[in-house]
Amino acid sequence: MSSIENLRIHFYGVQGSSSVFPSRGDRVAMREDADVELLRQLFSDLESRAGEQGTLDTSVEEILGGPVDRKTLLAYRERFDLPEPPIYGGWTTCCRIETADGFDIVIDCGSGFRNCARDLMAKWGDREERDLYILGTHSHYDHTEGFDQAVVCFDPRNRIHVIANRRYLRALDQHLGIFSRQVEVSLKGVMTPLSYRKMPARFDSCEIRDFDLKPPRPDHDPLVGRYHDLNEPLNIGATSIQPIEVFHPSPCLAYRIEHGGKVFVFCTDHELRRGDDPEDPRQVASLEAEERLRAHCMDIDILYRDGQFLEIEYDGHQGVDAPRGMSRMDWGHSTMEDVLAMAEACRVKRSFIGHHDPNRNWAHRQWIDQILARKSEQTGLRFQLARAETVVDL
Ligand SMILES: [Zn+2]
Ligand SMILES: [Zn+2]
Repeated sequence: MSSIENLRIHFYGVQGSSSVFPSRGDRVAMREDADVELLRQLFSDLESRAGEQGTLDTSVEEILGGPVDRKTLLAYRERFDLPEPPIYGGWTTCCRIETADGFDIVIDCGSGFRNCARDLMAKWGDREERDLYILGTHSHYDHTEGFDQAVVCFDPRNRIHVIANRRYLRALDQHLGIFSRQVEVSLKGVMTPLSYRKMPARFDSCEIRDFDLKPPRPDHDPLVGRYHDLNEPLNIGATSIQPIEVFHPSPCLAYRIEHGGKVFVFCTDHELRRGDDPEDPRQVASLEAEERLRAHCMDIDILYRDGQFLEIEYDGHQGVDAPRGMSRMDWGHSTMEDVLAMAEACRVKRSFIGHHDPNRNWAHRQWIDQILARKSEQTGLRFQLARAETVVDL
C-alpha cells in the first residue's frame, strides 16, 4: 500500500443499531444483477468476434484462450469490467484512522471492531510499540458490542487507551472491569463470559468532560485514569482531535480530526430534531448541537454522519422497508435530507451517510445511492451511502 499523506480512514462498520447482512431476497437480486451484467458483456464479446453474417468461425477454446476449466474461465471473466456488489453495512459502528506519523486511532467498538482489530494485529506484527487510541462516541450497545471479541484485547503487549465520556467508559467497564479491575458480583458473566482477568492487554481511560460544568474530582476515581476538557482539542502525535457534543438520548460526542490541514469529521448518532415547538428544551438542545456541529464542518474534506431515516420515515408517513410508518422523533437520528442540507451549507467536499437503518433492504440502499450520485453531479460535492470495507486517503 502507498504511504499515508495525512490520514487513512477505514470504515469497518457503518450499520446502525444492529449487525445486518443482505437477506436471501437481497442476495438473489444481487446475483441476478451480476449474472445479467456478465452475460451482457459475454455476448457483446462474442458479437464482436462474429463475421458479416453474424456467424462465429472459432472454437470455445480459442475464445477462452485455453481449455474449459476453472482457471481459464476465471481469467476470461477478468477481461470484463464487472461491478462489485455494494457492502452497505453489515457490522455496527467502527472506523479506524491511520495517521502519517504512525498512530492508530479507532472510533467506536461496534461489531466492526473485530475485523478492525484483526487488521491492526497484522499491521503491528512483532512491533514493540503497540498503542491503540480508541475514541468512544456514546455508550449504546451498537458502539461497544465488539470490544470483547477483538483480538487486540488479548495480547499483553498491547496498550489500549480509551478516550470517551463517562458513560462510554462505564459501559466497557461494568461487565469487563478493564479499568477498575473489578466486576460487580451481580453483573459477572451476565453479558459476556469474559472479564479483565482473561483480557491481558493493558487498558487505561481518559474521560472527556466539560470542565466548566464538572471539574475533575480530586479524589481517586477507579474508572478514570485522567481527564480531558471537552472544550480543548486533544493531540495524538501531529493529529488534533476536537470533541463536539451532539444531540442523542445518551450523551454523545462527534470528533473533528485534523492532520496536515486535512479535516475529517465523524458524527454518528446525532438527531436534528424536527419538532414543532421551538420552546421544547429537546428542540433547543438539538438545534444548538447542530449549530456547533456545523461550525466545525465548514469547508472540511470528509464528513461521516448519521442519516438513518428519510424525511418521510422520520415523520411517520412511511415505514422503513414497510408500508406502515411511525414517527421516529426522539429516536436519536437525523434524516438524509438534513445531512445533505448541512453538507451543502458547510461546503463539505465528500460526505458519507451512515448508521443505516437495519430495516432498510439492499435494493432500497442502492436506490438511495443512485439518487445521491445524481445529487453529487448537480452540486459538485460528493455524497454517498457509507459502505463497510471502504478506505479513503486524505
Ligand atoms: Zn448507534
Ligand atoms: Zn445511539
